[in-house]
Amino acid sequence: MTPLIELPPRVVEEIVHRAGRPDFDRWSEQLHRCGYCSRPVRLRGRVIHQSASGRRSAYSTDDEPDRVLLIRCGNRRAAVCPSCSYEYAGDMWQLLYAGAAGGRKGVPESIRSHPLVFATLTAPSFGPVHTTRADRTGGPARCRPAHGTPRLCAHGRPTWCTAIHAEDDPPLGQPICPDCYDYPAHIAFNWHAPELWRRFTITLRRTLAQQAGLTATQFSQRCRVSFVKVAEFQRRGVVHFHALIRLDGPGDFDPPQVSIDAAGLAQAIRQAGQHVRLTVEMPDRPDLALRFGTQLDTQTVNGGPTGQLTPEHAARYIAKYATKSAEDFGLGERRITPETLSLLDVSEHVNRLVHTAWQLGEHDTYDGLRRWVHMLGFRGHFASKSRRYSTTLGAIRRERRTYRQHQAAPDEQDTTLVVSHWEFAGVGYLTAGDTTLARSAAGRARERRQAARDAA
Ligand SMILES: [Zn+2]
Ligand SMILES: [Zn+2]
Ligand SMILES: [Zn+2]
Repeated sequence: MTPLIELPPRVVEEIVHRAGRPDFDRWSEQLHRCGYCSRPVRLRGRVIHQSASGRRSAYSTDDEPDRVLLIRCGNRRAAVCPSCSYEYAGDMWQLLYAGAAGGRKGVPESIRSHPLVFATLTAPSFGPVHTTRADRTGGPARCRPAHGTPRLCAHGRPTWCTAIHAEDDPPLGQPICPDCYDYPAHIAFNWHAPELWRRFTITLRRTLAQQAGLTATQFSQRCRVSFVKVAEFQRRGVVHFHALIRLDGPGDFDPPQVSIDAAGLAQAIRQAGQHVRLTVEMPDRPDLALRFGTQLDTQTVNGGPTGQLTPEHAARYIAKYATKSAEDFGLGERRITPETLSLLDVSEHVNRLVHTAWQLGEHDTYDGLRRWVHMLGFRGHFASKSRRYSTTLGAIRRERRTYRQHQAAPDEQDTTLVVSHWEFAGVGYLTAGDTTLARSAAGRARERRQAARDAA
């Protein structure tokens, strides 16, 4: 906990005041209930139970501290709310795992025998950037050794870098020469990435049909491609996709009626990923053919002795990426305007990306891009899935909410009609003192969770 001595006197006063109140225990309980959320939503309202015997007030925030109920903010991003992001990653894992292993959340166990592949589709190069590398033995290697005679670029800068960068080295992800780097193409890739992914799924179906010796129609009558994908920002500020791709039959979760195994699916993914193109217009230069990078990784999951990854590991990989976003580049969550553009405290690289995005957004073909500058032009969903991959995040949340409600009021009868009235009272804690108390309680909860995990 932060020593009180370092806190401003006003905050200390607020903490003392809160701790001295008779309803402090109930306030602490609310903190616990909302998972020590960093900026909970404050609700005011009541719940009325209506049954044959009449109406009675079952709950009212009038009896709560500050007359409000604290509810999780539910933000997915770790930098906004560590607690809610942790819960989100857990829900994501449940969803992913159900679709990979089956036997839970309404997905049958037989799903394990369907071909399933964990795929990573990266972005192509827009110019060399500082990077970490491994040598043949897996040890750290130099960033960009000069091959042959060292040569300067058109801007008089070295085209090589002999440094061995540490994981947190600021130059990582930054171009070796910013003037050589193709910033407009980089932003165009982020902007069009959702469409490129869509094209990829179409190409993949075609490739699979060919592999099975079927027409597209015949194939769609026998096989469905289900997937869940997560977009991740690489250090250089470009999105790439991690996906679990599975073959199903035409009905819900039934086996595919084609003879393609996981290795065949992996091969089709690589082929489709390498061939898919999206030609886009660029202002003041020829059209650009967008494509995925050559680093296209596929790993088969489970599916018998050939599986390279377990369903548990595949689900964990993807869930981990789901809580990261562009805010790691110092851009925050809000839209960027010309006024805030110059105030950003970001790296030279991000600064150039932001300005390029703003300029591109001026052209008709990139209409709307300016609203996504804080996402470096990426407007897609960070996590999305095809309809029948497994359950939904909404269903997982409802299940948990019902469980919590049952814990809170286990004796309620199902025949009772529950009527609730809620109104929004604000976001965040009421005072800086409350925020400090919540933060230190969250820290203690994390330590307890870690200790429990270490003991297990
Ligand atoms: Zn939260
Ligand atoms: Zn370097
Ligand atoms: Zn250059």
